[in-house]
Amino acid sequence: MHEMGIVQSILEIVEQQAKLHEAEKVVGIKLEFGALTGVMPASIDFAFEVLSKGGIAEGAGLNIVIVPIKVFCFDCSKEIVLEHYQPTCPICDSAALKILEGRDEMRIAELVVE
Ligand SMILES: [Zn+2]
Repeated sequence: MHEMGIVQSILEIVEQQAKLHEAEKVVGIKLEFGALTGVMPASIDFAFEVLSKGGIAEGAGLNIVIVPIKVFCFDCSKEIVLEHYQPTCPICDSAALKILEGRDEMRIAELVVE
């Protein structure tokens, strides 16, 4: 499962950060994933529950945020948020789009420690 590897790397970063801040426990983690990564929040939840057992982040509250797809259209010079990905501009039908957000983000947005 793809998500297992993702959560594994996230937990490594979380443990490093926790150590850095001399934290005893991680109580909350906010994660952000780009919509186009195809990451399923339910699978992340599951992988986290399995992999965090016995570690500093066991029992931490997970807040998973999917970053919507935002594109810039070079023809109508607008920033548009797309509900579902499409290769052309929903306003002018141009294919001159640049993806600004929602593509490959995978980050820890917030870490709450005690
Ligand atoms: Zn356009």
